[in-house]
Amino acid sequence: MPELPEVEVTRQGLLPHLLQRRITTITWSSKRLRLPIPRKLLHESIQGNCIAAIDRRAKYLLIRMQDGSVLVFHLGMTGKLGVFPAAAPKAPHDHLRLQLDNEMEMRFNDVRRFGSISVWPAEQAIMQEEEFNSNKGIEPFSPEFTPANLVRLARRRSMPVKTFLMDSRIIAGIGNIYANEILFAASIHPQTKVNLLSEKQWQKIADCCLQILTRAIAAGGSTISDFLGASGNPGYFQLQLAVYGKKDESCPRCGKTIEKDTIGGRATYYCSNCQTM
Ligand SMILES: [Zn+2]
Repeated sequence: MPELPEVEVTRQGLLPHLLQRRITTITWSSKRLRLPIPRKLLHESIQGNCIAAIDRRAKYLLIRMQDGSVLVFHLGMTGKLGVFPAAAPKAPHDHLRLQLDNEMEMRFNDVRRFGSISVWPAEQAIMQEEEFNSNKGIEPFSPEFTPANLVRLARRRSMPVKTFLMDSRIIAGIGNIYANEILFAASIHPQTKVNLLSEKQWQKIADCCLQILTRAIAAGGSTISDFLGASGNPGYFQLQLAVYGKKDESCPRCGKTIEKDTIGGRATYYCSNCQTM
């Protein structure tokens, strides 16, 4: 399942191929994604428009048009965006194709169809984006991601720190794999209640969070060069994992056996020697 680093790698990979390009024709499949494909809006607001910027918010990609309209993608479980020569054969599960003014096409492929495509037309885009942002947590790479803000958000909560990190209304874009790895790197037990963590511990969590996400984006970055065309599988790298999926293996730091637990319904891996409450 794509997490923040994979979405960011996709953004960086698409950018050079899409910027300033005009979308000439849009074609779609008859299948329903998590939401129905907004055919009318794609036709009215996106077709004929020029791509001005691509941003990421949480795990969403925001493709901004010159007139202010925004095309929003969520990759769901298996969604992939890639750029192909328009003449290249179509793959099964290509649900949206945006033909560009240079004989290339951006294609959205999604086997399991949990992804989504939305359009914010120019005249409503600012309002729709405000509403969209209102239920999203802090971006780890934004200036708001400070230990002081994390302390403030945690003060009235008593949930385990792992659940807190994964709550997209509090922090945007940290999935299960990264939450496990961040807490191991920060030497904090995943069951620790958030209101008991000190500012110093939040500092450590914030630092580890940025280090791990940056490393994951860099690892995916190696696929950016062959983003175009055949690979069609951008950024799905395996980060060097320390604890995730390693039950009964040795802790890379102290050698003790890694344990597995379930927190908030999600598989949780940790070293009870290195990660204390
Ligand atoms: Zn250990």
